[in-house]
Amino acid sequence: MNEAPVLVLNAGSSSLKYQLVVPETAEVQAKGIIERIGEQGSPIADHDAALQAMQDQLVAADVDLDAVGLRAVGHRVVHGGPEFSDPTIIDDDVLAEIKDLIPLAPLHNPGAVSGIEAARAEFDVPHVAIFDTAFFSTLPLAAATYAIPRDLAQKYRIRRYGFHGTSHQFISRAAAELVGRDLGELNQIVLHLGNGCSASAVRGGVAVETSMGLTPLQGLVMGTRSGDIDPGLHTFLHNELGMSIGDIDTLLNKQSGLKGLSGVNDFRELEQRRAAGDEGAQLAFEVYVHRLKHYVGAYLALLGRLDVLSFTAGVGENSPALRAAVIEGLDGLGFGVDSELNGERSTVARVISPDRAPIAIAVIPTNEELAIARETAELLESRSD
Ligand code: AMP
Repeated sequence: MNEAPVLVLNAGSSSLKYQLVVPETAEVQAKGIIERIGEQGSPIADHDAALQAMQDQLVAADVDLDAVGLRAVGHRVVHGGPEFSDPTIIDDDVLAEIKDLIPLAPLHNPGAVSGIEAARAEFDVPHVAIFDTAFFSTLPLAAATYAIPRDLAQKYRIRRYGFHGTSHQFISRAAAELVGRDLGELNQIVLHLGNGCSASAVRGGVAVETSMGLTPLQGLVMGTRSGDIDPGLHTFLHNELGMSIGDIDTLLNKQSGLKGLSGVNDFRELEQRRAAGDEGAQLAFEVYVHRLKHYVGAYLALLGRLDVLSFTAGVGENSPALRAAVIEGLDGLGFGVDSELNGERSTVARVISPDRAPIAIAVIPTNEELAIARETAELLESRSD
């Protein structure tokens, strides 16, 4: 077995997360984060310096990249636009295309580009781009299309792309394994509930609907993002308050969601405040749950039949109260959780619905780094066959 690790890089505009992981065994040899890249007063001027800082951390942790025999670098890239529907070996042309997608993801893709450029200069191994949008490239046109003038949408590549795809794909595969059935025969809903939140409907391993859209702002209520709102709100805020588009973008991305409703974006803190009788925290919880039920119902109707519903990411994996609230009242539709199983603290994938329930409800820890490492390794193996 190939035991050489893959270096997984998740480069944002001001941070670089890394993990050195063996795809086949899931062994994590090192991981860390370099923060405050390019910020005033920070010693880390740019992504080259961040990569250097990462290597210093590896040396300090006694990890010798030459000795471990680095297999490849897998880069998380948020937006793959209409072009990229699969993991892709990065060459100069691919890098140019990722740059060309910056208008679609101005907050995310520039960091990835800088990370790729720095890492290609440093590591002479294959570099692979894993796109957050790729899993959703299979959305049927009816799901991916906004009802706006077609020529405008086509010219500017405006459509629903979806995000968190690496996690949704990883979880839907893991769910099939967990329930011991073929991925191809399962209809699934995946709820990825972390700081960012998204839902997906997956038929036979293929994504058919997801809650995020052109940007990661659409859909569920998130830590600081509003999710779905009436697009007419922009006009209202502009006309009544004189807010600029930039102000509105900040409001909806950074000051809304749980934070806007309750003052806190961290779900643990929200639960504490709710338990203490805080009215804003209670409302935030209810709005969050209401939106989730709305999507679960919609996806059930789209799929026609559901086999597995999975909860994942920080909130989905760790909040029994949230999971119970989403499922509450849905017994007529075949959903139910065993409250003892739901309440157990665990870090392994598990089923929390009663035995022989028509719909299996699962809690599955996501692991995007491992998923990226695996997809990177699979692509390289398929090329060497
Ligand atoms: P992620 O983006 O997947 O890291 O998820 C972050 C979110 O998960 C934050 O809102 C955390 O408050 C929440 N979270 C983490 N641990 C717990 C927990 N034990 N109970 C409730 N929420 C949690």
